[in-house]
Amino acid sequence: MPNELTPDSLDRARDEGLAALAEAPDLAALAVLKPAVLGDRSPLAVARKAVGALPGPERADAGKRVNALSQELTRAYDARRVALEADRDARVLVEEAVDVTVLAGRLPVGARHPLTTLQERAVDVFVAMGWELAEGPEVEHEWFNFDALNFGGDHPAREMQDTLFVAPEGSGLVMRTHTSPVQVRSLLNRELPVYVVCPGRVFRADALDATHSPVFAQLEGLCVDEGITMAHLRGTLDAFASAMFGDGLKTRLRPSYFPFTEPSAELDLQCFHCRGDAALQPCRVCSSEGWIEVGGCGMVNPAVLRACGVDPDRYTGFAFGMGLDRAVMVRHGVTDIREIYEGDLRFTLPFGLEA
Ligand SMILES: [Zn+2]
Repeated sequence: MPNELTPDSLDRARDEGLAALAEAPDLAALAVLKPAVLGDRSPLAVARKAVGALPGPERADAGKRVNALSQELTRAYDARRVALEADRDARVLVEEAVDVTVLAGRLPVGARHPLTTLQERAVDVFVAMGWELAEGPEVEHEWFNFDALNFGGDHPAREMQDTLFVAPEGSGLVMRTHTSPVQVRSLLNRELPVYVVCPGRVFRADALDATHSPVFAQLEGLCVDEGITMAHLRGTLDAFASAMFGDGLKTRLRPSYFPFTEPSAELDLQCFHCRGDAALQPCRVCSSEGWIEVGGCGMVNPAVLRACGVDPDRYTGFAFGMGLDRAVMVRHGVTDIREIYEGDLRFTLPFGLEA
């Protein structure tokens, strides 16, 4: 009988194999051990080869013993693997557990800027009436900002002390001084009739102080259609005032002058706090005037319509513009316009996430 098949050597192969498997500390070590116990060069494999070389009668007997050894080692290997996998799973549960009772770090939720929320609310009112939102560039060509809007070549608004011109000199570009160039672009780009509301930042060569800022926000509206009259303007503004600041709130128009409207009017909003009621005065919001100045308006000047290729004999329209900063200041009791533009979180946070 060959050495590999003696009972001693088979017992030794079993004992050493079982001991090695029992000592494998983890699945990685078990994987490394597997070829040494069950692989092609293991004592088991050597014994199996030796069986094949035996004469018939001896082969059956030796074969049984080698098979028994193979089954025992395979069972031991499988059992060890199952045990080590269970260990690993149990350890993962402990090591990767999340303690749901630990307090999470609190991130500040931030706040929306009151100017943004007011602007969005105002636009929503007009969109609900079927108007469209229109936007335009903040760096604008002089033609859109002045010429098309009927500002004469020598109009004082074109002076350096009022308008921020974009270098180099003679570039023809300005920081738009109002949102009205968006009206011109809308008339040129859209099919008539046009009903657009244009919110946006505008720029003036103003020094920064409590009531002036070189950048501020405007909201402008334009409607051009057949048969539009000043009554439509009045009704639209009243509907807007009611929706924005309180039911039944009125507007007031006072005669004024703008190059791009004729006739033109100053636009006042009834004070939403006292509504002119002496019983609620003195009123801090309107200085007991009963009215708050919010902007200007008027019927679109035929010269503007002509500049935009619109036939003023067939179409008429109205336009209005208002300062949104002023509305924020009045509404929230802000006394210094700089607070709106400084980006200080202490200003915006109290407004929270007002929708
Ligand atoms: Zn008032």
